Amino acid sequence: MTDKINAVKGMNDIVAPDSAHWEWLEGQVRALFARYGYRNIRTPIVEPLALFVRGLGEVTDIVEKEMYAFEDRLNGEQLALRPEGTAGVVRAAVEHSLLYDGPKRYYYMGPMFRHERPQRGRYRQFHQIGVEALGLAGPEADAELITMAADLWRELGLQDITLELNTLGQPAERQAHRQALIAYFEQHADQLDEDARRRLYTNPLRILDTKNPAMQALVEAAPKLLDHLGPVSLAHFDTVRRLLDAQGIAYRVNPRLVRGLDYYHHTVFEFVTASLGAQGTVCAGGRYDGLIAELGGKPAPGVGWAMGVERILELLKAQQRLPAVAVPDAYAIVPDAGAWPQVLPALRALRAAGVSVVMHATTADGLGSMKSQFKKADASGARYALIFGAEELAAGEVAVKPLREGVAGTITAQTRLPLAQVAQWADRLRGDAQP
Ligand code: ATP
Ligand code: MG
Repeated sequence: MTDKINAVKGMNDIVAPDSAHWEWLEGQVRALFARYGYRNIRTPIVEPLALFVRGLGEVTDIVEKEMYAFEDRLNGEQLALRPEGTAGVVRAAVEHSLLYDGPKRYYYMGPMFRHERPQRGRYRQFHQIGVEALGLAGPEADAELITMAADLWRELGLQDITLELNTLGQPAERQAHRQALIAYFEQHADQLDEDARRRLYTNPLRILDTKNPAMQALVEAAPKLLDHLGPVSLAHFDTVRRLLDAQGIAYRVNPRLVRGLDYYHHTVFEFVTASLGAQGTVCAGGRYDGLIAELGGKPAPGVGWAMGVERILELLKAQQRLPAVAVPDAYAIVPDAGAWPQVLPALRALRAAGVSVVMHATTADGLGSMKSQFKKADASGARYALIFGAEELAAGEVAVKPLREGVAGTITAQTRLPLAQVAQWADRLRGDAQP
């Protein structure tokens, strides 16, 4: 045997039955987004490196140390695997003038790539579901997006998710705050750790985000951006808060919430849970009014969020909110290989009528005895066995045997059904337990 090849570290295969939970979650999310009028957008996984350097900012963690960047071997272009979704959506909006006839609301789902240290809830290929409202300037758009996330938690039955809210104001206010921060940290240079010293002149705001316990007191007493905000920024933030209050959506104002990316203006927020250990942020976002212009578009505002699918699924699992995985309605038992010409058309007709059937088939060990086929039927979780025995087939029939006690459906004892009319009894076989 030759050596086997494994997946790249931090990149996971998602296999049944887990993949059924992914599909279910995606379906729940799509249904909710549709009710809010958000439409799907699909952008490439590979983008020009410059998109993220310019869009996210050169001194962000992602661009500095997490990005899968590479040169196209064939033409030397500098490319990157997307580390997040917003930059690509905005690029597409600018490239195709999507805002020419008014604002747009989009959602996306898909893999993102960051070279991080793999651990629970933190992977190198992970998945985000995100929403972007482009061309909407008012605080009601921020509130709508936050509400949509809160609705999602409610509809999924998730608990213990708290909303943390902050405002980053506008660039001039941030600049003034930045100067005040640098001055403050310079005064206390002896208390800064290495990371903080490195960031002091490049991204002092990020120092506020430190997880170093030795620096907590220092950071706690640092100048607050809130004290540098003018009336426009304060009013925007105030309205977002009032609109959340009006809907009974609880939040905590966290002045230290700064988010990792440079493009945020005004509102930023995270949904955080204590149930997932260190990787507790399940959804994060904010307003990015500068980004569209930064990426070459006619200046227009934007706001969005992204949630980590792996973390949401883990939380659903921890809180026992994952649905039972769907089982097939039936498993077709085929005692003799001569029966295929009758079995395949009958199963095809059943499937056309909405019945899910797994067909027993020959493996490297052969077709298998009736007993072993029944074992497989049981293991499949199917509610009925369809037995295509020689005697039944000779009579133009198939035997139907319930495999479970108390199954939904109307066939409760073994019976025989005419093959010529499969579509007519499809209703009696079909379950209603598809998640
Ligand atoms: P963190 O502080 O956990 O690194 P982040 O600020 O880098 O998060 P965002 O860029 O805001 O994360 O991405 C939005 C969401 O995507 C996060 O809240 C999280 O749920 C998820 N996420 C981010 N990075 C990863 C990762 N490496 N693996 C799994 N999920 C991730
Ligand atoms: Mg990160």
